[in-house]
Amino acid sequence: MLSQFPYLLYSDGHGNIFEDKSLYAAGRAGWDAFPVSPAEWIELPEGGNLYELPGRKNIGIDVNTGKMRLCEKGWAVAAFIPPAYTGLYLAAYESLADAPTLPLFCYTAAGWLNNKFYAPAVRIEQDIRQEFAGYDDAKIKAGAAHLLKAYPHNRLINHLMENCCMTYHCPAARNFSLGRWECPVPTSPACNANCIGCISFQPPEESIVSTQDRLTFKPTVEEIVEFAVPHLMQAPFPIISFGQGCEGEPLLMWETIRDAIIEIRKHTHQGSININTNGSKPDAVQALCEAGLNSIRVSTNSARKHIYTLYYRPNNYEFEDIVESLKVVRNYGGWTSINYFVFPGMTDSLEEYEALRRLIKETDLKMIQWRNFNIDPDWYLGQISVTETDEILGIKQLMELIHEEFPKVKFGYFNPPMERIKGNFELDFAH
Ligand code: SF4
Repeated sequence: MLSQFPYLLYSDGHGNIFEDKSLYAAGRAGWDAFPVSPAEWIELPEGGNLYELPGRKNIGIDVNTGKMRLCEKGWAVAAFIPPAYTGLYLAAYESLADAPTLPLFCYTAAGWLNNKFYAPAVRIEQDIRQEFAGYDDAKIKAGAAHLLKAYPHNRLINHLMENCCMTYHCPAARNFSLGRWECPVPTSPACNANCIGCISFQPPEESIVSTQDRLTFKPTVEEIVEFAVPHLMQAPFPIISFGQGCEGEPLLMWETIRDAIIEIRKHTHQGSININTNGSKPDAVQALCEAGLNSIRVSTNSARKHIYTLYYRPNNYEFEDIVESLKVVRNYGGWTSINYFVFPGMTDSLEEYEALRRLIKETDLKMIQWRNFNIDPDWYLGQISVTETDEILGIKQLMELIHEEFPKVKFGYFNPPMERIKGNFELDFAH
């Protein structure tokens, strides 16, 4: 914990970053800049990055006057904080008229003190599955080669190893190549939503690109089962997860997924079978529960229908359908999480807090995965027509209030393995 405010950072526009000792770093929530108490800053965790933000000037707090002002020395700087940590404030900056839209990453506030970089964030997840230090490139390369050799005709293995693991460096695909933990199983080339910040498809007229390309084929049941069964039987803390960043909506492939689950469970009852989804088709979710689905993670930017609809732009489904999907899985005794896109100023508004409380109660929700929202803040608020933001609680206080009222609701960043769902949730992860 810091004893004083960290100093603001700026870049010279050529990738070189400097501290400005005339300004303390500030934070942003919604459209407003705020001082961030020293207690909320942590050292930027390993695996974090710093970004220079072209066409933007950081807002800081003058160390002498205490007044907010722009840093005129260079471009703004933000921190990308690694998975397992949740950002508490966005980077505070003012955009020039011709500032380009920023790519699909999260832009948390960043500061500098005593030769270290800091960001306002909390470690929300103890699971180490995406810990930067846990990835050995040589072992990953060997693991990918082994899988490609073991499954020469499997298009899904080819996609997961050639694209996801070796090109996109997807943490889940890299863990699969190492034979551990959560194995990704993308299935759907299409989607029934049109999310503004979709990471697998961006319309050609948009200036930003998706972070990975969407799957182009429909895998067969056999292609899924062939590697899913050995992974569930051999991996530590095994999970099979349908619904990945490199596809559309998996529920559009529910019949294939249902048949795959049935086939998998004929061979093994080990591990958890999970689906990451937009939750749009509760009937399909019911069929998957009947087949043996263990857990669901429904993604959402908000617990409020109008904010959800403005972002997801759903085709032929409503916000109420995603609520129903969560309820269906609970009715079958399954584990339910929301993949909650955290945006300071929106997520911690009073209206959102009330809506989140209602959602938890109505669905008997088991877990909130507090995920950093990978999107350009100005672009997002502009696209959902939010011109001013209400009174805020602060992300940390929001978490404390939810935990106080719903102590059984777990907080994290990743889908839990069966050992956490059925056993001790606070597992010691030094495995
Ligand atoms: S639900 Fe997923 S795949 Fe579909 S548009 Fe949204 S982010 Fe993209």
